[in-house]
Amino acid sequence: MLNNKTTRQGFRRLERVLTLESDQGYQDKAVVGGIRQFAAIWIEQAREEANSEAELALIEQIAESLTGYSRLPGTEARKSAIVAIMARIRALPKPIPESAKVVERPVIKSAGHPEPHEVIHPSTSKEPLEPSVVEPDPEGLLQSVSILRGVGRKTAEQLAILGAENIGQLLRIYPSRYDDYTLMKPINRLELGETVTVIGTVWETRSRRTRNVELIQSTISDGTATIQSTWFNQPWLVNNLKAGMQIVLSGKVDQYLGKLVLQNPEWEPLQLEPLKTRRIVPIYPLTQGLAANKMREIMKRVSSQWAPLVPDLLPGPLRKNIKLYPLSLALQQIHFPETQQSLHQARKRLIFDELFLLQLGMLSYRNKWQSTPSVPVPVDSSALTSFIEGLPFELTHAQQRIIADLATDMSKSVPMNRLLQGDVGSGKTVIAAAAVVLTVHAGLQAALMAPTEILADQHFLTLKGMLAFLDIEPALLTGSTPAAEKKKIYSDLYSGAIKLVIGTHAIIQEAVQFKKLGLAIVDEQHRFGVDQRKSLRDKGPRTTENGQGTNPHLLVMSATPIPRTLSLSLYGDLDLSILDEMPPGRQEITTRWLRPSERERAYSFVRSQIEKGRQAYVICPLVEESETIVAKAAVEEYERLKAHIFPDLKLDLLHGRMSSTEKESAMLSFKKGKTQILIATSVIEVGIDVANASIMLIEGAERFGLAQIHQFRGRVGRGVHQSYCLLLAGEVSAEAEKRLSAVEQTNDGFLLAERDLELRGPGEFLGRRQSGLPELNLASLTDMEMLILARSEALRLTESDPNLEKEEHQLLHQHVERFWEKAGDIS
Ligand code: ADP
Ligand code: MG
Repeated sequence: MLNNKTTRQGFRRLERVLTLESDQGYQDKAVVGGIRQFAAIWIEQAREEANSEAELALIEQIAESLTGYSRLPGTEARKSAIVAIMARIRALPKPIPESAKVVERPVIKSAGHPEPHEVIHPSTSKEPLEPSVVEPDPEGLLQSVSILRGVGRKTAEQLAILGAENIGQLLRIYPSRYDDYTLMKPINRLELGETVTVIGTVWETRSRRTRNVELIQSTISDGTATIQSTWFNQPWLVNNLKAGMQIVLSGKVDQYLGKLVLQNPEWEPLQLEPLKTRRIVPIYPLTQGLAANKMREIMKRVSSQWAPLVPDLLPGPLRKNIKLYPLSLALQQIHFPETQQSLHQARKRLIFDELFLLQLGMLSYRNKWQSTPSVPVPVDSSALTSFIEGLPFELTHAQQRIIADLATDMSKSVPMNRLLQGDVGSGKTVIAAAAVVLTVHAGLQAALMAPTEILADQHFLTLKGMLAFLDIEPALLTGSTPAAEKKKIYSDLYSGAIKLVIGTHAIIQEAVQFKKLGLAIVDEQHRFGVDQRKSLRDKGPRTTENGQGTNPHLLVMSATPIPRTLSLSLYGDLDLSILDEMPPGRQEITTRWLRPSERERAYSFVRSQIEKGRQAYVICPLVEESETIVAKAAVEEYERLKAHIFPDLKLDLLHGRMSSTEKESAMLSFKKGKTQILIATSVIEVGIDVANASIMLIEGAERFGLAQIHQFRGRVGRGVHQSYCLLLAGEVSAEAEKRLSAVEQTNDGFLLAERDLELRGPGEFLGRRQSGLPELNLASLTDMEMLILARSEALRLTESDPNLEKEEHQLLHQHVERFWEKAGDIS
């Protein structure tokens, strides 16, 4: 029957070639010599290997189409020929391998290797052996779980709920935890509270009914002593635990009326292979109707029969180099570990795989992006010098360093792909401006996209000032730009008359076409969706001199510090610059968390600041996700403060439901000092810069994340005045309490980000980015050591084979694609 498998492999080989051929656009270049030549060899082999009439007939049909393929006139005809062949191959009934039919037959056959059930007995356990060479059976793994013994229709449905329809998927349902019952003790040495296994003989078993439970009590002896074991509501045990029977019990030693007892222990007859006693017992996720024991039996069978048939996706040398278990061994050991050590090794291997596929995917994104060249931007130091000299301040060292990095990146014909992270107020804008200077000076266009109109306006004004010396007039393009003006901007961008455009997502509308976009900047990248970022970077020059498209250099900026431990897993496709130095003379913001009873004090403190000539923000609580409800709450808060608390002061309102003109005028009058207190929703999170605002009051602070409070608070402390942030919180959970005290204690965004990660896990940081990432099963995005290993191995591999085209990387290639299949687009 081995033959059968070989024919399958023949078909697989053909499918691979044809897939490649269709990926390459049917140019008859997937194999050297063309499909016709490949066909000649393939057909010969396939005929020899065929072992059924059906297969032979299929091979003849395929032979005919393949031989004529090269002569087919054009893409459409070739495409339909390939589609037809693929469909026929898929229609072939799948064989059931012997290994699945005869479950008792051990799969590991070579002499000297123990059968699986022999190895697992803890007393004989040693370092598990690498499974001997068994031919992998990728096709077999695609078969329905229902071919397994003990899996009927109903069980198959239950397994499907857990995510396993075929055998390969079933192998990937890992235990959610384990009970370690490897400690075996004689009964006379048991101690209260320990988790142990005892082996003994049943003396007697009795059933006793109390008011509402049926109690089964067995007395077990092992020659050193006896112990009572009790089970509740399992009346059938009276018949199962007959006197004289040898059994194994695993559980926690308890105490009853001064005597040591076992309550509800797991038990098995001694002569059976251990599944749930005297070993490390896997505890599986279950679903209604699927009992733990049943699941364990299925998994035992599938892991010993099928794990050895799983092909290893890692190239052998790579795997051996970093001393990882082979995949089949890892899969056996994750389900039924022989020792804690082998469990650890199995986990390590499987975690590595996940992170490795993650990194390979990221690198391939980067590779795809960078495989289209960019226009190099020469480093013009005189332009840069005049820009820097014209600034009203000295650049910090960090700013200088990062500007130099950008200049180096952009001088290459590989598009820059860089993430600039810097805390609120760390001075990212000036770095972006420096990159614009170089780009414009080189005769290329630049675009800056901001998430809100307010921010776009602000950038427009700042950059206009900073770049005045270059004699360029930036354009501002937002949703509220009048239609006529928009039209003019479109045509000036197309002709190249506009060198720099700043705006909201209006700049990625289809109508916007650049003559020669050399640099695309995205500010506050976390506020944008993936598609929006992608559209901007896809707006590269229409064509270059040689008719080839190019990509612009890309700079994305973010003020949400990502913990260092996360940046590799989330932004592995980007180069990272961290702006970790604040401009001098920044006011430390004093943050105080006040109890609800201190509200009056908070108001009078706000008032005292305003009396000194300062201005204040009041941030409304995060009510619900709906903007409308948030806006309504903001309006109510505004009315309340105006009527009852600050009737004599000038208050104003800013929320997401206002029109852009309304927002703009609210911002403007606050900026001009006409408004003293601005009541706002989280719309002000991003980038508003009013130097005279020195106090912020955050209502319902317990509902905001650490990072978000930190962002809000970055709106004050922007001028020379000592600034304050008051947090008002209602009912505070223990976790929120930690969060609020953390914000109180430090102003360092990165430190807070690390703290937030500890407190709330990675979820807070992931947002849209993560929704574009594949799901991890065992690995964690914060597993630094493994991440670094996976990263360096992925880099090494892609250096030698960037597109995973080599024969020995084919399996890996497929896995990367499958792993990323359900993921979105992270670009
Ligand atoms: P963010 O990183 O939050 O975008 P900005 O670029 O808006 O920060 O900078 C915040 C403020 O700091 C701006 O008013 C800017 O002019 C100022 N600034 C930037 N760099 C420096 C510096 N090196 N020295 C002094 N002030 C600076
Ligand atoms: Mg900014």
